[in-house]
Amino acid sequence: MSNTDVCRDIKELNPLCQILLNKALEEIKAVGINPLVVETYRSQERQNHLYSQGRTLPGNKVTWTQISIHTKRNAVDLVPQRNINGRMTAIWNAKDSETKKIIQIMTKYGFEAGANWTTSPDSPHFQIKRVSAFSKTYSSANTNVYITKVIQKELNEKNNAGLMVDGQWGDNTTNAVNKFLRKLDLEDAGKVSVEILKKLIA
Ligand SMILES: [Zn+2]
Repeated sequence: MSNTDVCRDIKELNPLCQILLNKALEEIKAVGINPLVVETYRSQERQNHLYSQGRTLPGNKVTWTQISIHTKRNAVDLVPQRNINGRMTAIWNAKDSETKKIIQIMTKYGFEAGANWTTSPDSPHFQIKRVSAFSKTYSSANTNVYITKVIQKELNEKNNAGLMVDGQWGDNTTNAVNKFLRKLDLEDAGKVSVEILKKLIA
């Protein structure tokens, strides 16, 4: 496999991202949609190669950036596939009802949907920004508004406490994380690890 080949392996993604993606895929399948993971991790070499297309290499432009969250192991491209005239066919259509359902479920699990971008929307693209590639914990120092909202919502349900779901990870959120950790007899370090995230979104 060359450095510019496509990678579809979920296990190449950030460990926290994997948990959220697998949970979302479970739910997508449960509503009867057949999801196709088109791409996960992308090497910088591949990103540069894609950027060259339509610029220094022949073909149409396929990307507008050399900086992608795919290279940070926190992005996935996902489309529905359906049997059309006897052939399993990937659906590349932002207006498709199954595409919209995928966007709704992925958003619920903390992914920012490229479909919602006002400039250059990218409907198969889902990402978790501002989280480092190999990080194994979400915390006030390693999160973004979408992830924080998911964690706050789950903490409200699991702690049965009226935490404001505002996407801002301040002391109240850290305290709520610690309350949840103490219930599990774990050290209250104010961080959501891979194991805790699994328990939160279970
Ligand atoms: Zn993408």
